[in-house]
Amino acid sequence: MDKIKKMTLIALTCILMTAALSIVTSAQDDFPWGPEETAFFMGLGLTMCLIIVVVPLVIAILACIWIYKDAEKRGKQGILWVLILILAAIFLSFIGLIIVIVVWLAIRPPIGGEKKEPDRRCPNCGRAIPMDAKACPYCAKKFEE
Ligand SMILES: [Zn+2]
Repeated sequence: MDKIKKMTLIALTCILMTAALSIVTSAQDDFPWGPEETAFFMGLGLTMCLIIVVVPLVIAILACIWIYKDAEKRGKQGILWVLILILAAIFLSFIGLIIVIVVWLAIRPPIGGEKKEPDRRCPNCGRAIPMDAKACPYCAKKFEE
């Protein structure tokens, strides 16, 4: 199951990168200059696109990896949050990315899942004691049933 999730993540990243690359190459088609200028401006264009496309892409991928691991660590669906993050980034760019991360930080459960630690108290002294205690660590009362 984990492998499927990882593969999906990698596939999505590949699709995004291919889409970005096709936009970059299709924009390079009709330059009115000679071959040298074309080569120069293509180089310049590619460098610019690299900065404009690759840097935010790397940040988005890092955000995806982080939110996936953080969600999985806290017993939530990591891939779901990655999808939310990608969708928000597509429609709202960096603002979407930041909104999703802020929302996640606000609602994420503590590490170790959502299970609430049930309160167990010693019937003798009333202090909080471990769930599996066979005797109270404070007043030494034994719990035999
Ligand atoms: Zn006690």
